[in-house]
Amino acid sequence: MSDKKMQVVFASAEAAPFVKTGGLGDVAGSLPRALVAAGADVIVMVPKYGTIASEYTDRMEHVADFYVSLGWRNEYCGLERLVIDGVTYLFIDNERYFKRDYPYGFFDDGERFAFFSKAVTESLQHLPEGFQCDVLHCNDWHTALAPVFLREFYQGLPLYERVKTVFSIHNIAFQGQYADTILNDILGMAHIPNAARQLRCDEHSINYMQGALDYSDAITTVSPSYAWEIQTPEYGEGLDGILRRRSNVLSGILNGIDTDAWNPATDPMIHANYSAADMSGKKACKAALQEELGLEVRDDRPLMVMVTRLTRQKGMDLVTYALDRILSGGVQVAVLGTGDYEEPMRYFANKYPGTCAARITFDNALSHRMYAGADMFLMPSLFEPCGLSQMIAMRYGTLPVVRETGGLRDTVAPYNQFTGEGTGFTFANFNGDEMGDAVFRGARLYWDDHAAWDQLVQNAMAADFSWVRSADEYMNLYHSLHPEIDITKPEPVVQESAPAEPVAVEAEPAAPAPEPTATKVEPAPKAEQAAEPADDAKAEAPAKAEEPAPKAEPAKKTAAKKTTASKTAAKKPAARKTAATKSTATKAAEKPAAKATATKPASTKTTAAKATATKTTTKATTSKATAAKTTAKKPSTASATKTATKSTATKAAPAKAAATKAAPAKAAASKTAADKPATAAATAPKAAAAKTAPAKASTSKAATSSAAKATAKPAAPKATAAKAAAPKAAAQDSSAATPADKPAPKAKSVSAAKRTTRKR
Ligand code: ADP
Repeated sequence: MSDKKMQVVFASAEAAPFVKTGGLGDVAGSLPRALVAAGADVIVMVPKYGTIASEYTDRMEHVADFYVSLGWRNEYCGLERLVIDGVTYLFIDNERYFKRDYPYGFFDDGERFAFFSKAVTESLQHLPEGFQCDVLHCNDWHTALAPVFLREFYQGLPLYERVKTVFSIHNIAFQGQYADTILNDILGMAHIPNAARQLRCDEHSINYMQGALDYSDAITTVSPSYAWEIQTPEYGEGLDGILRRRSNVLSGILNGIDTDAWNPATDPMIHANYSAADMSGKKACKAALQEELGLEVRDDRPLMVMVTRLTRQKGMDLVTYALDRILSGGVQVAVLGTGDYEEPMRYFANKYPGTCAARITFDNALSHRMYAGADMFLMPSLFEPCGLSQMIAMRYGTLPVVRETGGLRDTVAPYNQFTGEGTGFTFANFNGDEMGDAVFRGARLYWDDHAAWDQLVQNAMAADFSWVRSADEYMNLYHSLHPEIDITKPEPVVQESAPAEPVAVEAEPAAPAPEPTATKVEPAPKAEQAAEPADDAKAEAPAKAEEPAPKAEPAKKTAAKKTTASKTAAKKPAARKTAATKSTATKAAEKPAAKATATKPASTKTTAAKATATKTTTKATTSKATAAKTTAKKPSTASATKTATKSTATKAAPAKAAATKAAPAKAAASKTAADKPATAAATAPKAAAAKTAPAKASTSKAATSSAAKATAKPAAPKATAAKAAAPKAAAQDSSAATPADKPAPKAKSVSAAKRTTRKR
């Protein structure tokens, strides 16, 4: 083993807090810090978009510039450096491509991100001194060409020989598919038969993501279940064949969430702070949210929210199908989001004033208040690579109602009414009635069994969704590519007098998610039917008579507490400022060990003593076990949406955002782009979000609890996939109609519909 640290270049089209339009931005904002805490040196490469706030651009330091060849072009590329929380960010600067009003959705996206991928590859020659890239970790189609370029154009150079490539799929629905004229004109690869063959997906098109799947040394996706699902035609979006062929290098590593930014005990954006030990603040948050949204301020109404892109992927067909039943049954619903289903949401808000609210916008601060103030969080996705929102909801003690697919299946344990175990309510098939049943199982519990409800809330809040666990798995993966590099965690500065205290290890959260009991398969209580309206007339007014007797009602207690949320919205990004002063320092000065020591004294003690190796190992195992429990549910085809055909509603309709206001005029009038109209639609929905999304996503502090983290090597990455294949534990309260271990029939209609998004 060499003393060299694992040195990773992490390339992503977005990274919070600089630019975020969805989960990828969250991941690229959090995972690198967790990797640094796990002992790696990490450089994150992101385009220098025109939308990045000046508080960051002002502090960037120009470190290099060079030209990148792209077909017949020679494009300028600058590298601008910023160091935050031990992570070095190198922004790829080219104003023609990136100085625009939003990140995606332009007619020349294919060219822009081909440039980005080539620039990332070329940049490996211009890294700060001492940084020798071991792993180039690319994410989604925007960076998918980097492994292709690397092998075809750079492989022979000594510097590149050691570089292994990892490609992570965050959403296989977006692949970067373009007319094959691009192969010659932009990629300059038409003369390389191997490349041309592996990029081509049909007679007239090439597919960036397909290239990455063939060229990368390892492939990951963001949950074990999704890793399994995308190898099937139903979820593979046409790439399932390649993924099956390369399944030996494919693994699923669950995302985490930024547990500092999303912490109800400290969140400055919510009405009142609270924790698992003292939940009183949550009641106040609920009342404040009801008031803010114009809902009846009543604690006897379960309040269910959605914070999401309003798209077909997110299950909006089911929502619009079942909302009458849900709202007239006494459940309040509030939706925050933008997308293809804005009008239906406005319709329901108008039809059920006081019971339904729709906020058609992207509002980070409001999202915090909704996670905190709600009782339930609805996420009935058609497919869900990982999903962050359900994890955030659980952290805020808001119980998720989810469809058992992808990361939702891996993170939400269904309620077991016999054992009290579980962290939410789940259903298997993509079916509006099943979703409604799950919602009312939650509502019934809320109304009828406070103790059981409270226990479920405790279970959810105790689940460990920190990045520590995921970072360890990525480190193991990198290690499998570079076994000569020791990934044992660095020893923090030892404090002479600090004995190795086992307490620190035990103090780690790692509260295991409750394990579903395999033996009990309990038919879903149909109690909610009692609460449902018998006729349309009822639908117009909540069926109060049918509700269980509510408790004496807190009614107006919130009146005085008109929340100050809007002002808090701006707080987070500022928190980062201090890190800027280090931006010119050498990497050595940014060593994570020192940081960990400073921020986590308790943990420091733990790892300080080598002698605690066994303890650390134990801890690692514990956290693994936790993951195992939460992923215990089988990624069977059970949820393969046999009833998907039921969702007759609209198609994905991605083009909406493609209105993509004809790209800012001066920007790349590249003639090559003109012949690929498909490009504009490529990332349209994301663009919609981007346009409304403030570039400042919530920030957070350094990754937590670096110390006690697994210095020992847990199971190989593959193990997670294996886990995913384990038989699913009892479906508990989920629809008895679909036994958990029953392979579900294929859902051809789903696949067909989703395929409409493949041009992305
Ligand atoms: P996606 O598929 O969109 O990436 P995820 O659940 O993985 O879904 O992540 C969505 C992230 O975006 C979450 O942090 C969620 O809170 C946030 N988000 C989605 N829509 C909105 C909105 N309208 N306003 C504020 N935040 C939003």
